[in-house]
Amino acid sequence: MQSVPVWLGFIWTSPNTLLGLLAGLLTFQRPSVRAGLILFDRTPRGLTWLMLRAGRVAMTIGFVVVSARRVEGSLLAHERHHVRQYCVWGPLFIPLYLLFAIPYGYRRHPMELAAQRAAGETSDQRVRTASRRSGRR
Ligand SMILES: [Zn+2]
Repeated sequence: MQSVPVWLGFIWTSPNTLLGLLAGLLTFQRPSVRAGLILFDRTPRGLTWLMLRAGRVAMTIGFVVVSARRVEGSLLAHERHHVRQYCVWGPLFIPLYLLFAIPYGYRRHPMELAAQRAAGETSDQRVRTASRRSGRR
C-alpha cells in the first residue's frame, strides 16, 4: 500500500486536498506546513471547535489535517497513515470510508485500525486516551 509514489498520490488525491483546504478555511487560522502536510492545528476555532464538541480531535482530508490540538507524536503518525490511505484511494477514499463506517462504526473501522497500528496505538491505550479527553480522531 505504501508503494504509491507520493507525487502520484498527491495528484490522485488532490480533489480531497482541495476539500481539506476549504475545511481548513473554516478553522479561521493560518495553516502551517510540517512533515509534508498542511496543518490547521493552532487552536480549536470554528470547525475544530465544533469537532471537539462532537468528540473529535482531528480529521485528515487529502494532505490537509484539521485538528483541535497540535499534530505531533502518535497523532501525527496516525494522520500520516490516513494521508497514505488517501494517496492509494484518491477520490474513492471518502466514499469508501463512509461505506466501511456503516457496518464497522468508528472503533472497528478497518482504516482506523490500520492507522492505529501504524501509530503504534493499542486499543486499550486508545480507550483510555479517548475517555480522558473524550476525543476521537
Ligand atoms: Zn483516524
